Amino acid sequence: MNDSEPAGRRAGRKDIAMKSRWNDGDFASVVQAYVDKGVNRDLAIRTYATRLLGQDPELVLHGGGNTSVKTVIADRDGSDVEVLCVKGSGWDMGVIEPQGLPAVRLEPLQDLVKFDSLSDEDMVMLQRRLLLDPAAPNPSVEAILHAILPFKHIDHTHANAIVSLTNQPHGEELVRELFPDSIIVPYVMPGFVLAKVCDEAFRAQPRGDGMILLKHGIFTWSEDPREAYEDMIAKIDMAERRLARGIAKPFKSASLSRNVAPASDIAPILRGAIAIDTGLEGAPKRFVLEHRTSEKILDFCNADNAADLVRRGNATPEHVLISSATASRCPRPILKSLTIGRETSEPPSPAMRRSTRPISSATMRGSAGSRPCSILCRASSMSRASACSPPVRPPRTPALPPMSPRRPST
Ligand SMILES: [Zn+2]
Repeated sequence: MNDSEPAGRRAGRKDIAMKSRWNDGDFASVVQAYVDKGVNRDLAIRTYATRLLGQDPELVLHGGGNTSVKTVIADRDGSDVEVLCVKGSGWDMGVIEPQGLPAVRLEPLQDLVKFDSLSDEDMVMLQRRLLLDPAAPNPSVEAILHAILPFKHIDHTHANAIVSLTNQPHGEELVRELFPDSIIVPYVMPGFVLAKVCDEAFRAQPRGDGMILLKHGIFTWSEDPREAYEDMIAKIDMAERRLARGIAKPFKSASLSRNVAPASDIAPILRGAIAIDTGLEGAPKRFVLEHRTSEKILDFCNADNAADLVRRGNATPEHVLISSATASRCPRPILKSLTIGRETSEPPSPAMRRSTRPISSATMRGSAGSRPCSILCRASSMSRASACSPPVRPPRTPALPPMSPRRPST
């Protein structure tokens, strides 16, 4: 590890240092405002800390990640109940409100890990049974994992830097070297099995100072919310600095000619090509597209082996929730030269063949050997489109009803 390496050495990055955004003044005023409205103090604290994490795109992408706090809440019958307040499905961490962290009875939630197996459906149903408020959103699929870790405040993110390191072929070796005191967990799909695997890993290393989940993310914890948050920031900073010592630019730089067709010319052709025949004349199922481009996207799209790369699938399995497993590659769209034809330079990806049935054989054709210019996200509905766009943010007023789930929440 080389923590003394100057920030900004990595090409294209001005500053790699992660900085704590904790502000004691903001903390005090946010927490007091909620307490004045009758919100449990621990829950108010967790709301502030969760927002700090969620508002940093390097830490939380598209709602991934979750947080929790263990506390005691008065039930409707007046009795005090030990609960886990854990992020609920459908809530954006960056603007979360206390009702986005539903209270789940702690002890019976911890007991669920004793099952030998539990389907996702049964786990969701059993977790819902343990909610203090039956109208609350579904607790995260990682709620049992939060429950079995014996710490008051727990932060979990799918931080870019951690998945970038652990997606490497020798990712485990890299994080073991970087975080020798942390618990390292192999990749397991989020859900009940992951909770069991993490339970065993924690029991084997109860003094671990955090948990790294390969190809998934990181957990930090503490009795103190600021400590848990700042430990997250410190570890991500270490991962960022380690990454900065790697290959600065894995893909060849973009070298596009200026006569690339704009997205507004390309999108209608793509919409036609990927629309699904519903069997109803003139009523195909169409998709909402969103055009995105950036220096990094262009580097990727212009890589010599882009056609191969888009068929390999996501390096981070959790990103399947945000994008399809694989993509299709179109040739570079030349301005005023877009044609509709029955040929394409490459066959559609297996995912596209499975999920779509073009209503026409429209494809874009460009010059032979040309390259694509950027990415068009496909969305099957407006709600899927919002998975590509910045998440829809819930209103801030605590009195509003909970959001309905947009997609599986981790
Ligand atoms: Zn996760």
